[in-house]
Amino acid sequence: MRPGSICAVAACKLTRQALRLFHRGGTALPGKAARLFDPDILKRVSEGMEIIVVTGTNGKTTTCSMLENALRAGGRESLSNKSGANLLSGVTAELTCNATWTGKPKTHYAVIECDEGALKQVAPLISPKVIIVTNLFRDQLDRYGEVMHTLDEIRKGILASPGSILCLNADDSLTGSLAGDVPNPVVWYGLDTPTGEEKEPVLSDARYCIRCGTEYGYHYHTYAHLGGFFCPKCGYSRPEPDFAVTQIEEMNTAGTRCRVRMSAAPYEMEITVGLPAVYNLYNAMAALCACTAFGLPAEECAASLKTVHSSFGRMENFILGKTSLQMILVKNPAGCSQALEYLSSVKEPCRAVFALNDRTADGHDISWIWDADYEKICSSGILQEILVLGDRAEDMQLRLKYAGADTSRITIVREAREALKWIEASPVPVFAFPNYTSMLELREAVRERTGEKEFWQ
Ligand SMILES: [Zn+2]
Repeated sequence: MRPGSICAVAACKLTRQALRLFHRGGTALPGKAARLFDPDILKRVSEGMEIIVVTGTNGKTTTCSMLENALRAGGRESLSNKSGANLLSGVTAELTCNATWTGKPKTHYAVIECDEGALKQVAPLISPKVIIVTNLFRDQLDRYGEVMHTLDEIRKGILASPGSILCLNADDSLTGSLAGDVPNPVVWYGLDTPTGEEKEPVLSDARYCIRCGTEYGYHYHTYAHLGGFFCPKCGYSRPEPDFAVTQIEEMNTAGTRCRVRMSAAPYEMEITVGLPAVYNLYNAMAALCACTAFGLPAEECAASLKTVHSSFGRMENFILGKTSLQMILVKNPAGCSQALEYLSSVKEPCRAVFALNDRTADGHDISWIWDADYEKICSSGILQEILVLGDRAEDMQLRLKYAGADTSRITIVREAREALKWIEASPVPVFAFPNYTSMLELREAVRERTGEKEFWQ
């Protein structure tokens, strides 16, 4: 190691210790400090490691949890970057702080969540063995042009790491198009079967062929623009996945039991995914596909999916007094509609909290809520009471009113602590749908009550 690298490791560790001393959860600063001394420190501290990188709009965090769980099930300890530190500084901090003082990695494996825009910086430094691209959806108020920009950023990232095996969602026409532009070997995953009742999705971020502009046809839909797409003009179509769900046998709030085929095996496996909702089925297929590409036995990974735990704000469960709270982070129309679709599948009386802030980390423009499908849940009759919370609680209330909610059953509060009182008084299960900063506040209020540790510890 060069002296600069030694200093970089020390700077990273000491900055993090100092932040902890003052009870600050800074995740990027230690990485920035390290890079001041050695801009390539990430390359040095990850040398010899076997790394899986997960990028894409939705499902990154959950897919990472599934991968860690699969590695752990086989007795392989892995390193991961939690709490949203998925830009270059955050990834640098995580890997550098977890190296020895001389910069040697302490664990052989790492599962790294990476922001779509940061992939081109991170991937060439850590040379991942496998890169998963989960999907691409319009985030908040992005328009089509921005979705294409994000796709372009991901493409640059993959091109910067040509040795990585690419795991792609076969049902997503946007990310699927990457395969034709890069030299990397590609493995595909998907759902061979439709999942919802709706034939035509309400929401599509990719209605027209990415190659020729003709409107796609679909053999079936799963959700949003995902499904068995084909272009009637140029022939661009859903590739045959190597890993696919062939049949959903049972889906409830505890998880999903389904049948899965793998092109390498002559038989189908029955697997149970310990998290509910269709989008977690995609995350599970991504994890299974990546684990196998990584060289792990498919059966081992499949079995581990049953015990996967929910992660930071993605379907976390809390017990509060006599009631239960399930918290699901929502931050864009597609993810929000899917979370609400999941709530409609609960089919028993419950209460819901919709929390909306408009701070910098959330995006100031919150009009995306008008594109999310609240209508179905409001007409389902299962919501006994609704609480709206946050800086933009009134906007949320208005959205629910237009979705058909009974306004006499909507309560408005501004503070997460007040919301917690409302939740604790509920005689039925409560489901909360916060966006990012409102989730942090709600989680902090829960933490105060239950004494659970802060997420960065
Ligand atoms: Zn076409």
